[in-house]
Amino acid sequence: MSAVTGLPPYDESNIFARILRGEIPSRRVHEDEFAVAFHDINPQAPVHVLVIPRGAYVSLADFAASASDAEIAGFWRAVGRVAKELGLEAHGYRALTNMGQEGGQEVPHFHVHLFGGRMLGRMVPGQAA
Ligand code: 5GP
Repeated sequence: MSAVTGLPPYDESNIFARILRGEIPSRRVHEDEFAVAFHDINPQAPVHVLVIPRGAYVSLADFAASASDAEIAGFWRAVGRVAKELGLEAHGYRALTNMGQEGGQEVPHFHVHLFGGRMLGRMVPGQAA
């Protein structure tokens, strides 16, 4: 376990690492020095895009603690730019990252989901604890 994230160390065989290496196809909407964005394979909204850093970070906690300032700035600029280029700013959208088991994270490479194109409803479904 990582002391920073409480999660296992980065797994080079995770699906997004394979997408970054071009081993698995993806419908890319953006790529630059710091980030790659592509459509989610199982979209939960009319627009559902994933933005991932090129660097090997397990989660938001790992990225925030270990990435360089340039990577952090470049990544978040890419998130904003992708949302704008997808036309999401006109009606609003949601940016979300899952972390760890209770956060519902399935792929252990840090990523931000961008959802848009419909009313998105409650932020967190189900009952409060
Ligand atoms: P998480 O639950 O980790 O926050 O989100 C992982 C996301 O990756 C899910 O929304 C899932 O649909 C998406 N996903 C899983 N495998 C693939 C894949 O091979 N290609 C693409 N484009 N998305 C994937």
